[in-house]
Amino acid sequence: MKTMRAAVFLEKGKIELRDVPRPQVGPGEALVKVSLTTICGTDVHILRGEYPVKPGLVVGHEPVGRIEEIGVGVRGFAVGDRVIVGAITPCGQCRACLSNHGAQCSHGAEGYEAIGGWRFGNTIDGCQAEYVLVPDAQANLARIPADLSDEEVLMCPDIMSTGISAAETGRVRVGDAVAVFAQGPIGLCATAGARLCGASLVIGIEGVPKRKEMARRMGADVVLDPNHHDVVAEIKRLTGGGVDVAIEALGLQSTFENCLRSVRPGGTVSSLGVYSGHLTMPLDAIAAGLGDHAIRTTLCPGGKERMRRLMSIVKAGRFPFGDLVTHSFPLAKIQEAYDLFSHQRDGVLKVAIRP
Ligand SMILES: [Zn+2]
Ligand SMILES: [Zn+2]
Repeated sequence: MKTMRAAVFLEKGKIELRDVPRPQVGPGEALVKVSLTTICGTDVHILRGEYPVKPGLVVGHEPVGRIEEIGVGVRGFAVGDRVIVGAITPCGQCRACLSNHGAQCSHGAEGYEAIGGWRFGNTIDGCQAEYVLVPDAQANLARIPADLSDEEVLMCPDIMSTGISAAETGRVRVGDAVAVFAQGPIGLCATAGARLCGASLVIGIEGVPKRKEMARRMGADVVLDPNHHDVVAEIKRLTGGGVDVAIEALGLQSTFENCLRSVRPGGTVSSLGVYSGHLTMPLDAIAAGLGDHAIRTTLCPGGKERMRRLMSIVKAGRFPFGDLVTHSFPLAKIQEAYDLFSHQRDGVLKVAIRP
């Protein structure tokens, strides 16, 4: 039996490199040799035991690589093709997928399954490994344009898709004022997304100097530091009563609440954060339920057409998404990478991992 090196979740606090069986390709699947991947904030939640996955699972959900083997029934791709695969791998055929909610895919069964489209490093083996098996390959393999490097498309599978979706789901319109709470990797992509969707004022909220600077590069017109500003009051002053769309990109009660308080009546809170415990809503912030507010949530959109669109944005040079990668490690040193990334040392935004 052939084996491969892979980062495996063992128990709370332990993700380690192990030799595991190299996957066998079945009908409709493809095996991708991973050339580049990264670590997501969600992987850190898994490492800390805050998001449960089963011990022995290969983690990671952001693959860039080459097709090594193609299963029966997958058409239009060849061995050796350079591809990315979205973090979310919709089947493309279930009711959720055909209703444009691929992230809530029931992978082949009837109906919807909440978060069901997120399979890599969640319910099936992921891509912090030498190889990854791609389910429903026909719906998920996305060819990389020849003139784009692996590094340039590394953010497409997850954070670029997720961040931009906050603006799309929040229905940002031309001329809108948008606030993005927290400028971590996802928030920075949401800032870029608001700009791409036509916002004329993008306000980033962030206290870390390096991230404040990056926020401006990704399209923020104003960056407010919560350590120096009453952020909500300042947003209301800048916008004459509140933003059209407030984006939550951290997953805390305080930032969710600040979103509610800084959005105008009739505006939208677009939430990306992964919350734990309880989330409560102060009634004054939603005018006792009479303020015509909308609250929308989004999980990263996946699938090959989504990936094609995101790569076209990179190719058109619309935003420097590749610049979010600040550090690089070989797969053999992934534990060091987890340590750096999870403690946010050395100005890290995203790390590149090379199997
Ligand atoms: Zn992720
Ligand atoms: Zn589906």
